[in-house]
Amino acid sequence: MTVLWFRAALLPSGWSARVRVVIRDRWIAAVEVGAAPAAGDEIHGLGLPGLPNLHSHAFQRAMAGQAERRIAAQDNFWSWRTHMYALAQTLDPPALEAIAALAFAEMLEGGFVRVGEFHYVHHDRDGTPYEDPAEMAASLAAAAATTGIGLTLLPVFYANAGFGGLPPSSDQRRFVHDTDGYARLLEASERTLANLEDGRLGMAPHSLRAVTPDALDRLMALRSDGPIHIHIAEQTMEVDGCIAWSGQRPVAWLMENQRVDARWCLVHATHVDAAELAQISACGAVVGLCPMTEANLGDGVFPADELLARAGRFGIGSDSNVLIDAAQELRLLEYGQRLARRERNVLDAARGVGTADHIYAQACAGGAQALGAPLDRIEAGAAATLISLDDRDPSMVGWTPDEILARWVFASRKPIVDCVWRRGRKVVSGGRHHEREAIIARYRDTLARLRE
Ligand code: ZN
Repeated sequence: MTVLWFRAALLPSGWSARVRVVIRDRWIAAVEVGAAPAAGDEIHGLGLPGLPNLHSHAFQRAMAGQAERRIAAQDNFWSWRTHMYALAQTLDPPALEAIAALAFAEMLEGGFVRVGEFHYVHHDRDGTPYEDPAEMAASLAAAAATTGIGLTLLPVFYANAGFGGLPPSSDQRRFVHDTDGYARLLEASERTLANLEDGRLGMAPHSLRAVTPDALDRLMALRSDGPIHIHIAEQTMEVDGCIAWSGQRPVAWLMENQRVDARWCLVHATHVDAAELAQISACGAVVGLCPMTEANLGDGVFPADELLARAGRFGIGSDSNVLIDAAQELRLLEYGQRLARRERNVLDAARGVGTADHIYAQACAGGAQALGAPLDRIEAGAAATLISLDDRDPSMVGWTPDEILARWVFASRKPIVDCVWRRGRKVVSGGRHHEREAIIARYRDTLARLRE
């Protein structure tokens, strides 16, 4: 049994002072409020549930900061993708595991406790399937086991290079399946995840660019439950391409041709009109916002204020992993809205609750839904998955309960996540993942090997 004592903790009822959290095995056995610490209790600052990271391509961590010079007259998502494809061609299973372990450790250090891996590098370098179709997925599962992060694996179905069933290009050969091959990938992925504590499986048709309507129908028949994620309307060129192909915008096309419901996560959905936004909000799907990646790639600004006004749902993803930090994602989400609207506290949709408090709660709920996982709560009977913030950091001096999240999101100069527990296992202390040194050493060796 472990007992954690927090000067304050975010419980389902709100922030409470002097909280004892009793952990037995993987579970929270009891929560006492207004309690003095007992001998043997671990003393901590501020306890709260961690954030789900609903959209990641872990391997892209290895190119962070390396595509930041203009090489064409127009530098945008598509020129970035050329860099990314070059990296994807070099990966092998051990390299993917090493890179993912670093990304996952940084996620935990940055306040994320579960990740949705939108995973599409499936085959060997020449496009030949591995003997185990889930060989690369197994590398992600191994990295999740090493780091302790919760994994929702989203194997990607990728078949076409563009709208109208264009054949895939040679640099997409590691990604592609037919629907039968994809069904085998799902079965193999399920076997792989069986070795992982609380691993979950979903499906991910890559985008309307990469999947024909027939294939999408066949995919939907494969599994009757679990999350469904799709990249959609990230780029204006993609919207134009969809209109040229179908006469409809991407979200409008999807809404008309699939039964989109609470299983779905529409990743990005940056370019939506009012009618599409109304449909997304009404159907219960989650919008997967990735503010730092969308800014880095010059995608555009999603009208998050209008989504919240319609009681729509969203979660946060680190996507390209150019920088991994939960608080900075939320900060940029709100700042993007402020710059576009020329107003302050745009996403404090509950009016006066506090912008950071509101978007943190929304992103926890939306992220859990999108990853097919229970919402983490500090209460008896829940899994012992929580994080603590260091209240000795200068940004926290003189904190009051209604300012804690705002100070973290808007005013901390460095990550102030102190400790992280995942299902009772403490994986981060003093802001550092317990396997950090070994993970970094392996990452360093791996990058050197890939560049040889
Ligand atoms: Zn993505």
